[in-house]
Formats: sequence, C-alpha cells, structure tokens
Amino acid sequence: MNENIITPELAARLADLYDRMAGAYDLVADELAFTCEGCDDNCCDSFFLHHTLIEWAYLWQGLGELPEEDLRMIRARAERYLAEAAAAMARGERPRSMCPLNQDGLCGLYRYRLMICRMHGVPAKITRPDGRAMQFPGCFRCQELTAGMARIPEVDRTELYRELAGLERELVESTGKGRPRIKMSIAEMIAAGPPR
Ligand code: SF4
Ligand code: SF4
Repeated sequence: MNENIITPELAARLADLYDRMAGAYDLVADELAFTCEGCDDNCCDSFFLHHTLIEWAYLWQGLGELPEEDLRMIRARAERYLAEAAAAMARGERPRSMCPLNQDGLCGLYRYRLMICRMHGVPAKITRPDGRAMQFPGCFRCQELTAGMARIPEVDRTELYRELAGLERELVESTGKGRPRIKMSIAEMIAAGPPR
C-alpha cells in the first residue's frame, strides 16, 4: 500500500507528536491515579468524527501493514459499522457501535490510533486560535474521580493541536490541492481507502 500521500518524514513527525500527546495524557492520568482498568464502558464505541487528512493517511499507513486477511475483516466490520450508524441516525439517535479496529476490547491498530483516541479520558483544556478557551471534564469515570477536587489537573491541548494543524498544513500543501473538508468516522476512513 505505497500510494499513501504521507511521506516517511511527515509520518515520523506525526508519530513523535502522537507520543508526546500520550505522554501529556499519562502525566495527568498518573497524577489522578486514573486508569481504564475495570471500566465497564469502552469508549471505542463512542461516535467521534475526525477532521485531518494527515491522520487519515497515517491510519492507512498502519492498515497497509496488516496482513490481507486482517484488512479484509476490518473492511467488513467498517461496512457493518456504517450500516448501523446510518440506521441509528435515521432513528434520530447518536450512533454507538464498536470501532471496526477494536479487537476483543483492545485497539487493533494502537500505534496508528487517532489523536482523540489518545486524549479522551482525562480533563483537558484548549485555547482556540480566536482566543476562546474550552474545557473538557474527561470521561464519566474520570469526572467521578475528580468530583469535589479543589484543583483538577488537566492536559493543555493547545500546543499539541497547533502542531497537528501545522503538519496538516504541510501535507495539504504537498498535495497541491485546496484544504479538503473532512468530517469522517474511523469506519468512513477505512471504507474510503487511503486519501489521494
Ligand atoms: S476513558 Fe473512561 S470511559 Fe473510556 S474506557 Fe477509560 S475509563 Fe472507561
Ligand atoms: S482507533 Fe483504536 S482506540 Fe481509537 S476508537 Fe478505534 S479501536 Fe478504539
């Protein structure tokens, strides 16, 4: 699968950024003594949409390394996911189906999982380019843990997001096309194939 638009250099820089995201997450999780262990929920069935070409391309770098049979199975699960999501939306409900990459409760493409998969869980904040601040309280279990705390540690996502936006810009410029409008679930990214 070497028609991927992401260069090895850009992929390495995204991998480094992803590592630092995970590191920032771990610092806060450690401070809170928070882990996903024993959670009855699995947020891999949460409905998230993703917006970057570079994450889509990098996801496909990982998918392209899988044995043919595994990829076929993941594609089939993605098709099922899309049918279930469409049915849920037709009923006016938010989709809640397991991510096609989840294998027996665990991420089957851990190294290539997307930014939100790395950041969801602990409290976070971000200052948007227009100066507006946004807060994320963390998942329901983390909110139970932090309830009543005088000072809640949080990940500041601002610089991490800025860097991701910079990498996205570089990739988009390298394609020679305009910035695409991306609003896709992981299942849609799988079903669509690698971005061109
Ligand atoms: S992030 Fe929260 S809701 Fe998701 S699996 Fe971990 S503990 Fe459970
Ligand atoms: S990519 Fe991995 S971590 Fe993210 S939702 Fe899918 S299975 Fe879960």
